[in-house]
Amino acid sequence: MSTAGKTNLLDFDRRGLREFFAQLGEKPYRADQVMKWIYHRLVDDFAQMTDLGKALRAKLADACYVGPPRTLFEKGSADGTHKWLLGMDGGNAIETVYIPEPTRGTLCVSSQVGCGLNCQFCSTATQGFNRNLAAAEIIGQVWVAAKHLGNVPHQQRRITNVVMMGMGEPLLNFDNVVTAMSVMRDDLGFGLANKRVTLSTAGLAPMIDKLSEAADVSLAVSLHAPNDELRTQLVPLNKRYPIDELLAACARYVSKRPRASITFEYTLMKGVNDQPEHARQLVKLMRRLPSKVNLIPFNPFAGTRFERSPPEAIAAFQKILLDSGVLATVRRTRGDDIDAACGQLKGQVLDRTRRQAEFRKRIEEGAAHAA
Ligand code: SF4
Repeated sequence: MSTAGKTNLLDFDRRGLREFFAQLGEKPYRADQVMKWIYHRLVDDFAQMTDLGKALRAKLADACYVGPPRTLFEKGSADGTHKWLLGMDGGNAIETVYIPEPTRGTLCVSSQVGCGLNCQFCSTATQGFNRNLAAAEIIGQVWVAAKHLGNVPHQQRRITNVVMMGMGEPLLNFDNVVTAMSVMRDDLGFGLANKRVTLSTAGLAPMIDKLSEAADVSLAVSLHAPNDELRTQLVPLNKRYPIDELLAACARYVSKRPRASITFEYTLMKGVNDQPEHARQLVKLMRRLPSKVNLIPFNPFAGTRFERSPPEAIAAFQKILLDSGVLATVRRTRGDDIDAACGQLKGQVLDRTRRQAEFRKRIEEGAAHAA
């Protein structure tokens, strides 16, 4: 089937799909019917949408298509974690990971091909940035995983949570991420509760304010250090948005959501940020807003200069937080036998050098717009 000149319906949320159907001269309820076929029954062929008339099916086949990303490779881990390498245009590929647990199933979704933020402990960063993913390529990751897992929204939920924590900084692909998260939370889409969709950011403070106007989702922040000097070394974006500014934006975000808290991710690296003094500094920061800390033992990857903190250092760090009344959990490492653990996603990023410079410029401009 040729898709040339046709519109990918995965690029739309409910409102966008209704507008597209209006342009075709069709009623909104027809868009809703198609949305259910796509996300509840995971059908990508109009011919199978049997409650649509033949004429409408033919019209749709002429104008549009349902185009999830191609699966280039997939692999299951011994612990049930499953990873997909999904092909994008120009030889690029991104990774999506499913992590099953006894009471939930979490899908970790990518937002960009590569990432330009250059966090020093991140495997994705070593590949540079190529481009933003389209909304279809973001929600398409959920679609591919849902189809593989036999997920049925409202009935047989295999995917109960989605975290925008894969490759890329989601707030730098704002519109497409917001559209995709809308489909994740729509009853006609994947029907997830707002709090079960989490956006994780490296800390673009002005964009956090913008997000609070556009989507009611859970927020996670990649903190990784308790003071500006160390954080700027590990997360270079901190130079532009230091911790004070970042936490102020987080406090504004959470103030609009009673009962919500912000999750702060803190990757523990041996001798770098895992000392008792770091834990005590972190306690002071966490007292400023409703929060919890997710401690992540560093997952080594080829070429990194960092090492995982020893178990006793992790336990001591967590104890200082807990003893001070800060909710802190240690993330169990999953899928490291298939390089699917946190910070290990790499995908395949081509043509990154030219775009890297453009991207850095856009960060400055984009952030300025949002301010
Ligand atoms: S940790 Fe996240 S924001 Fe930082 S480089 Fe990696 S993917 Fe980008």
